[in-house]
Amino acid sequence: MFAVLFTVALSFTTSDAKFAYDEAAGLVREHTPRNAGTIRGRLAAGWILDRVSRTGVDASLDSFTAMTPDGEKPFANVMVEFEGSRPDAPWIVVMSHFDTAPNVGKGFEGANDGASTSGLLIALAGVIRRAERPTNNIALVWTDGEECRHEYGPNDGFQGSRRLVDVFRERRRAVKCAICLDMLGDKDLHIIVPGNGERAFRQIVKMAADRAKVGKYVSLQDDLIVKDDHQAFLDAGCAAIDLIDFEFGSAPGRNDFWHTPADTMDKVSQDSLLVSGRLVASLLELLDAK
Ligand SMILES: [Zn+2]
Repeated sequence: MFAVLFTVALSFTTSDAKFAYDEAAGLVREHTPRNAGTIRGRLAAGWILDRVSRTGVDASLDSFTAMTPDGEKPFANVMVEFEGSRPDAPWIVVMSHFDTAPNVGKGFEGANDGASTSGLLIALAGVIRRAERPTNNIALVWTDGEECRHEYGPNDGFQGSRRLVDVFRERRRAVKCAICLDMLGDKDLHIIVPGNGERAFRQIVKMAADRAKVGKYVSLQDDLIVKDDHQAFLDAGCAAIDLIDFEFGSAPGRNDFWHTPADTMDKVSQDSLLVSGRLVASLLELLDAK
């Protein structure tokens, strides 16, 4: 017999899920599209900064330029940092991209792909603020430039997460685990943890899901590789995992809403954001305790 002493208790409630949904809807309503490297993308980052600040949490904007296949462009990440109680503790990073995929067509909302988890992260900021101070440091980051312009490559896509890796390296911050959240508001929710991720932490996601009583929504897919923001951390030798629902479509198993004009708020549900929020809260509790 052994007991795990949880150092932080995070409760993600139905009102947090409603708040997450409303924030996602607000982002879509105020900032569609939010393509990286555009003024509209920059305005979306400013909107997120303001919305997070309204939860009573200090947020900062990290503006930078990075190369793209179409030349150097401006980008901006939004970051919240919760300092842990242990001075030498490493960082747990939770990310959601907020940019929209270009080339989908005029008016692409990216409601599930980009906005849903951005709203979720705003709600999580409030949840962590309400809780006891965690042992580890926790960073919540809304990343810019996740989507590629043409095809993923050294200068195309993941500009925000690569920048984040550089910032952490410069500040000599150790990363315990980077967690990427993507497309987790889908009404028909099937969260997967793709194979490209730290094995031990992928197992902990299953434990976290069972603890939060949302185990039936979560599965590990060893044979599936998903390119997402966590890859920048993996490439830098840091532990990282991706939580994504990559079956976003008109029928089970299909992904035909993904990167199409059909990715609108009516495909996103508060109930799914409640499941995703409970999962992430439970995961953060486990990671902080270990
Ligand atoms: Zn996308």
